[in-house]
Amino acid sequence: MQYVIGVDLGGTKTAAGVVGADGSVLFMDQTPTRNRDGGEAILDATAALVASLRGRAAAEGIEVSAIGMGSAGVIDAAAGTVISATDAILGWSGTDIRTGLGARTGLQVSVVNDVHAHALGEAWLGAAAGTDSSLMVAFGTGVGGSFVVNGHPLLGHRFVGGHVGHFASPYAYHDGTALDCSCGHVGHVEAIASGPAIHASYLRFGGSAEVPDTRAVFDLARTGDATALKAIGTGAGAAGQAVGGMVNILDPEVVVVSGGLADAGELWWGAMERALRQELLAPLADVPVLRATLGNTAAIAGAASLVLN
Ligand SMILES: [Zn+2]
Repeated sequence: MQYVIGVDLGGTKTAAGVVGADGSVLFMDQTPTRNRDGGEAILDATAALVASLRGRAAAEGIEVSAIGMGSAGVIDAAAGTVISATDAILGWSGTDIRTGLGARTGLQVSVVNDVHAHALGEAWLGAAAGTDSSLMVAFGTGVGGSFVVNGHPLLGHRFVGGHVGHFASPYAYHDGTALDCSCGHVGHVEAIASGPAIHASYLRFGGSAEVPDTRAVFDLARTGDATALKAIGTGAGAAGQAVGGMVNILDPEVVVVSGGLADAGELWWGAMERALRQELLAPLADVPVLRATLGNTAAIAGAASLVLN
């Protein structure tokens, strides 16, 4: 059986594993992403992680043949380069991953954006396994997504496809003023529906400044706190409305919802799914809305699938 290494490079950590052609993930390890040190240092650390996994595999008689990588940022999947990245990873923009990691490891390298890798993993082995098309949307620190058709994510002409957090939401207003979005524009879905946005809503709605983060807002909501419930309901409603609109446009076989908020329990999920279904055109009424199942291994497996077969 063929084995490759799947890498999931995020803003704070880089995780990787040895993945078999049957989808088995044999070894996993992670290292901090050297997000203040620039592209070459990040490639050095990634190559060291790959070497360590390769060594463990070799000890079991397993040879790896290539590297598939999902990376934060806008990724030119054809060239294997980083078109742009936020300041969360300084110096990552402009990095030639394919050449740099290829030279360090002697292996063929394929790269795609990490959210697309995540969706590919769920489409291959997770909640969307066996489907012809799936829309995955992740609600966490940010909001991102990917539309996968027959095993291929829709990357877009300029590789920007999948930025599903950045279109107008009627929820993303306060006192008639559109909320600032991380992308530099205003009034977008991410500005009201991300995890941090729920904490920000709680504070805007008059919640206590002593409540430090989104997790604490959820804890408070479970005690019946009206302001916390309103903040979560607003974020979940915005999330569901946004996904419902996308389902009307794309008509995926299934919808997969992922990210920290999807794992936060019925409080968020129930409000999200109600708002989602409210948007749907009649023939879409029975579209399955599924929670992602693979967790941390989704992007590793999805990235590996780029270079398997
Ligand atoms: Zn935006």
